[in-house]
Amino acid sequence: MYEEMSPETGEFFNFMTEHELFDFVTRENKHLGGYCTFMPNYKAPFIFSNFNGTSADIDVLTHEAGHAFEAYYASRRLPLMSQAFSTSEINEIHSMTMELFAYPYMERFFGDKTGKYLYAHFTDAIKTIPYLVSVDEFQHRVFENPGSTSADWRRFWREIEAKYMPWRSSARSRSTA
Ligand SMILES: [Zn+2]
Repeated sequence: MYEEMSPETGEFFNFMTEHELFDFVTRENKHLGGYCTFMPNYKAPFIFSNFNGTSADIDVLTHEAGHAFEAYYASRRLPLMSQAFSTSEINEIHSMTMELFAYPYMERFFGDKTGKYLYAHFTDAIKTIPYLVSVDEFQHRVFENPGSTSADWRRFWREIEAKYMPWRSSARSRSTA
């Protein structure tokens, strides 16, 4: 899949495989969770996960591969290692976009259930967008108002929630307050 996606992702994934930079298998006493970390001295990302045989395994693989590819690619092109691993402001652009880049290959994982997987994944993505833009607009409003108080922040959030997620009961009941 990654070799077909682009020469760069092919090189990246082969590097990851050659150097055994994955730990996907669930074992007794293994820590829970899934993440990607980066070892600057080796310019090497590392992906940790606990696969459980569900479609989420594929989400984790493609998502964390997005983080890992960002670090792999940037660390070979940017002068400072501190620039190689992106920060929380933009991290999920790489990972969530990689999930979408993998759409054309999902039939290899899901066979005749590919349509169901893509429908579930895409509706999840669509449903997440209003929350993500809310967080982004909230940050803008907080930074544009350095003297604002925690009461202001609650008001900002209620106004933003009423705008992007009006179906939330907290947005409905409080937006008129
Ligand atoms: Zn992520």
